[in-house]
Amino acid sequence: MKTYSPFISGAFVDWDGETLPSVDPATGQMWSTIARGDTQTADMAIRDADQAFRSGPWAKAGSAERADMLDCLADMLETRWEDLVTPEIRDNGKRITEVRGQFAGLHSWFRFFATEARKLRSEPQANSIPGVHSVGHFRPYGVVVAITPWNSPLMILAWKLAPALAAGNTVVVKPSEMASASTLEFARLAHEAGLPPGVLNVVTGLGHEVGEALVRHPLTRKVTFTGSDRGGRKVAEAASAGVIPAVLELGGKSPQVVFADCDMDNAVNGILSGIFLSNGQTCVAGSRLIVEAGLKDRLLSRLIDRARTLQVGDPMDPDTQVAPLANEPHLQKVTAMIERAKADGAICLLDGTATTAGRNGFYIGPTVFDDVTPGMQLWREEVFGPVLAVTSFTTEDEAIALANDSHYGLAAGVWTTDADKGARVAEAIEAGTVYINHYRSVDPACPIGGVKLSGYGRELGPDAIRDFCQVKSIWTGTKPVPDPFP
Ligand code: NAD
Repeated sequence: MKTYSPFISGAFVDWDGETLPSVDPATGQMWSTIARGDTQTADMAIRDADQAFRSGPWAKAGSAERADMLDCLADMLETRWEDLVTPEIRDNGKRITEVRGQFAGLHSWFRFFATEARKLRSEPQANSIPGVHSVGHFRPYGVVVAITPWNSPLMILAWKLAPALAAGNTVVVKPSEMASASTLEFARLAHEAGLPPGVLNVVTGLGHEVGEALVRHPLTRKVTFTGSDRGGRKVAEAASAGVIPAVLELGGKSPQVVFADCDMDNAVNGILSGIFLSNGQTCVAGSRLIVEAGLKDRLLSRLIDRARTLQVGDPMDPDTQVAPLANEPHLQKVTAMIERAKADGAICLLDGTATTAGRNGFYIGPTVFDDVTPGMQLWREEVFGPVLAVTSFTTEDEAIALANDSHYGLAAGVWTTDADKGARVAEAIEAGTVYINHYRSVDPACPIGGVKLSGYGRELGPDAIRDFCQVKSIWTGTKPVPDPFP
């Protein structure tokens, strides 16, 4: 059985310390182990990344050369992305059709930020002081720690890594202990593509052990975190102790607001993709369906007919539409939330625990609850699984109030053929991203991130490269300095 060790200074380190199991969610069997990194591992990775930031080819490269290196990495990904597919699926059980879709496009995040690196220029500042020029220079932070979750480890890593490297930082990654293999294989490919040693290091292990040690390391200059709000709070606390900035991309409980005048086929496709793609294990899962009362019965009937026929199966099978949940603790959490929703009085219209009962592996099928009220756990807490909570409204104001009745604010969908209403409701919903008659797209050009408990800071978009820089203002006097005490 393969043991994955940390990737530091362009190579896998020899590891004879403790390991953690990696379990295949489709079978429940261990398929590999990963190193349980500790404070020493964190120190080794950060010091190495700091050295690569200060001296050597990366430190000497200008932004155009760094852009060339990112393009080489993108070229490598275009030809070798298939190598990364199996390790990720064996770790997190995501179905092959989705993983292939994500990985075939991995190169595009690096290409986009290579282009942004070429555009990054120092900017003359319009200061009002006579006889002094000032210029703002975009300078990288130094060592950036990137902490990622298990649901889409490599795609989420690309969102952090591409702008951080384009800006000239070096990066130490801590992937989830539940899904580290694809990140380690990626690091090897990146090194083969010419990324100098130390520019991308990967350490594995538990969040509260090696993850926290990375954030608290005195040479760490910035943290970018994607995960639960619980993990995010810990990371923010640790970052604030060292007075370093943290970007937090956290969970969600995203509403899909459906008006009676919507194109129903379109809305059904959007709702299905919002909650049942990746088996609901996406941060933007549209997990609260807020539907106009007059449409509810027809919409639910169509939705449940479609959800009931989705094919549950092996994630490696291209025909599979519902793959397992990513790990056993998560299966237990989702099962418990379904049981609690029943006990709280929500009406279970489709029970995914029943449709997948008796299967090996960590399976739960599509689940739909009606009559979910805002006091229920299912309304308030993120499930991160294929569980849709449904309620109805009669007025636009009521729909908006229901949509905003959440501690989270990551994404939302609005379904209507009335363009003015769509724009009005989108404006009123408290979320980092609102889709109108559409759902869940991401693109390098469009910033993403949350409000409220969904986090702060943004990823992606043309400003992302600047977010990984600190502006240094350099002032140059062109006239004699007047005597301050004439
Ligand atoms: P998690 O918070 O348990 O773990 C995320 C990462 O943080 C892991 O690598 C973990 O080891 C690390 N970590 C945990 N505690 C830490 C600590 N004290 N110090 C340093 N690192 C620590 O989250 P998860 O269960 O892996 O992922 C699921 C969550 O991620 C969901 O809430 C989901 O909504 C969220 N998510 C958000 C986005 C987004 O873009 N907003 C995207 C994907 C997932």
